[in-house]
Amino acid sequence: MPAKTDYPELDNARRHWRYQPPADLLSGRTILITGAGDGIGRTAARTFARYGANIVLLGRTQDKLEAVFDDIRTATDTDPAIAPIDLEQTPYEGHVELAGMIESHYGRLDGLLHNAGLLGPRTPIEHYDTALWPRLMQVNVNAAFYLTRALLPALQTADDASVVFTSSSVGRKGRAYWGGYAVSKFAIEGLSQVLADELESAGRVRVNTLNPGATRTQMRAMAYPGEDPATVAAPEQHMDLYLYLFGPAARGQTGQAFDARDWPGA
Ligand code: NDP
Repeated sequence: MPAKTDYPELDNARRHWRYQPPADLLSGRTILITGAGDGIGRTAARTFARYGANIVLLGRTQDKLEAVFDDIRTATDTDPAIAPIDLEQTPYEGHVELAGMIESHYGRLDGLLHNAGLLGPRTPIEHYDTALWPRLMQVNVNAAFYLTRALLPALQTADDASVVFTSSSVGRKGRAYWGGYAVSKFAIEGLSQVLADELESAGRVRVNTLNPGATRTQMRAMAYPGEDPATVAAPEQHMDLYLYLFGPAARGQTGQAFDARDWPGA
């Protein structure tokens, strides 16, 4: 069902998208997004809801999630939900509990966007903070594994489910001083390939990674403090690829590493 209201940044970006999805692309689908309170995750949540999806907003800061929830309720007739979960602190059992709530409320899960991430310090491995390393791996890698494992039954109940792990250029080619962040993204690429291979023959759940490339968010500003944010793409500019991967046109595309900057369009 089309959105009641759009917002200006989405309208502006849509004119330049390489893929023009129908207004009801995600109608009837339920998609969980991690890190949905800010940055790219917030934009994906607002955008996907405007294309008809029920969004489960997972994040660690309740008031940010509530603001996105309110925006979606005002702009659409979809059925969003909030999952206030700190991915660093939540044990596997917490993810299983969430999966149970999703199955009982929505019946199945059609999409899972692993988007939450920590940047961590940008220092040489030689000086990397040994206490921070496992905390970063917990959020960027272990939690993504826990959540995926717990949600697989709900994803396999859907006919055409999509799992997307958010990667980075430094998760495909190592680069000095990107430390645990780069290593965690390499791990995500590996998790995605293994899972895609395991699920491919059943044909119900596709699994891919997506590198958004430079995007105007708090994380980008932390990584490049001297950069003028106006020169960096807004998250809305990449939403054509995000929508494509969660919609029916991407059926059969699995085990791939997408890059928003050189995606030719659909
Ligand atoms: P932001 O830092 O702007 O947003 C990250 C989100 O993750 C926030 O909503 C944050 O919550 C959430 N988050 C962080 N830690 C936790 C946690 N422990 N539990 C739950 N949620 C958590 O990042 P971006 O939007 O820029 O990045 C999104 C993804 O895109 C990341 O995976 C990043 O690595 C990737 N990426 C980004 C690029 C860019 O240029 N921006 C380039 C390449 C990849 P809160 O707001 O409450 O802190």
